[in-house]
Amino acid sequence: MTPDRLGPEMSGTKGHVTVIGAGIVGVSSAAFLQREGFAVTIVDRLEPGLGTSFGNAGSVSPSAILPVAMPGVMKKVPGWLLDPLGPLTIRWSYLPWATPWLLRFLRHASRKEATRVATAMRALMETVFDDYAELLEGDTFARLIRRNGCLYIYENREELQAAKWSLDLRRELGAAMEEIGGSDIRQLEPALNRRFDLGIFAPENGSTVDPHLLVRAIADQVLRNGGTFVRADVKDVEIGPDGPVALETSSGKLPVDRLVLAAGAWSSPLARKLGAKVPLETQRGYHVTFAEPQIDVRRTVMWNRRSVFVNPMDCGLRIAGTVELAGLKAAPNYARADKLAGIAVEMFPDLNTKEQSKWMGHRPCLPDSLPVIDRSPRFANTVFAFGHQHVGICSGGPTGRHVASLMAGSTPRIDLTPFSATRF
Ligand SMILES: Cc1cc2nc3c(=O)[nH]c(=O)nc-3n(C[C@H](O)[C@H](O)[C@H](O)COP(=O)(O)OP(=O)(O)OC[C@H]3O[C@@H](n4cnc5c(N)ncnc54)[C@H](O)[C@@H]3O)c2cc1C
Repeated sequence: MTPDRLGPEMSGTKGHVTVIGAGIVGVSSAAFLQREGFAVTIVDRLEPGLGTSFGNAGSVSPSAILPVAMPGVMKKVPGWLLDPLGPLTIRWSYLPWATPWLLRFLRHASRKEATRVATAMRALMETVFDDYAELLEGDTFARLIRRNGCLYIYENREELQAAKWSLDLRRELGAAMEEIGGSDIRQLEPALNRRFDLGIFAPENGSTVDPHLLVRAIADQVLRNGGTFVRADVKDVEIGPDGPVALETSSGKLPVDRLVLAAGAWSSPLARKLGAKVPLETQRGYHVTFAEPQIDVRRTVMWNRRSVFVNPMDCGLRIAGTVELAGLKAAPNYARADKLAGIAVEMFPDLNTKEQSKWMGHRPCLPDSLPVIDRSPRFANTVFAFGHQHVGICSGGPTGRHVASLMAGSTPRIDLTPFSATRF
């Protein structure tokens, strides 16, 4: 636990910021805050990178800008309710809690909204590789991040045709999305099942060799640059006349000067205390990692129809995806992970599945599929950065840069209006 007052070693030239949350968003914010001249302390109840940022698919795709509520999603709701192992499911017991959120979510499922959201997300994520390159010193960027494209696969022309509107939207916003056929697919990914005869290759995309290592690398640098990490559960915030003055934590009181809330899917009670009521919901997702895959997979492969990503990682071959609405407390349903393992074998028939690990994580989601990156409407010393839904790795680095600008009172590089905390 840190001392009960801020010591001189923590004061940067512009003051001291406490960041709640050591996921990709929190550590990136802390690292950019240091570059802006602030001293930082990160607080998390877990070691850095063990929340949702631990087990995601690791895709770093500046073209992953589409909202979850795409036009036509409404027709799919009855199927979601009936198939507990489908790409999106809602636990019956959670339905009363999920329904108001789901209704708000469905209201965004129009072409107009999808275009608005994709435009905002493109502006946010366009710089992602440059942002991580700035944060990762020496050869760490090259070691942790690949930029060798991403492959979307389809089984027939109808499936690809169904994606046409969304592909065109991404192209209009500057994303390279090249249609390729079977022989190109086999050259890119020889281990893929030959039934995938049509693909979209997105050459500007990439991935990390392990999202946990990425968060750790940024967190370690924050510490090397003089930052502090406090392992504690934040229970409440003490508010003074001008805003938060201390965090009530599992290890006692921690005084704060300025605050960033980057607590992922758990942000909403603290956000309320800090001046904003936000409809944050968790979209739970699963992964299976095969430790000894014994096949050659070179880049992120996404199977659209199944809503899954496969990514080769340092720790093995990972398949991740699907959405489950069941709240923050319900136990994982690992039958959903087993289903993912079956899909991985459909995609890569020679995959060795012997050694596998399973995981469930909580995507922090707002109904319009946009994060909140904004100052607290009530307190000038507080900045919010949460709600990065399915793309926190693609947007965590850029978010950190904007958090630092907001805290410093300088003009952010992009228009942050779509990410306002008061839009709900
Ligand atoms: C299956 C799956 C696949 C995904 N694939 C991708 C992908 O390929 N690419 C991509 O860009 N994104 C992907 N995502 C989304 C991505 O993982 C998230 O958007 C991202 O990890 C969110 O980061 P975060 O820092 O906001 O949250 P987190 O990583 O969850 O960090 C929040 C931290 O806050 C801490 N915390 C919360 N409350 C408190 C408290 N009261 N006191 C102390 N500490 C607290 C938590 O312990 C946690 O460490 C995927 C997600 C899932 C589930």
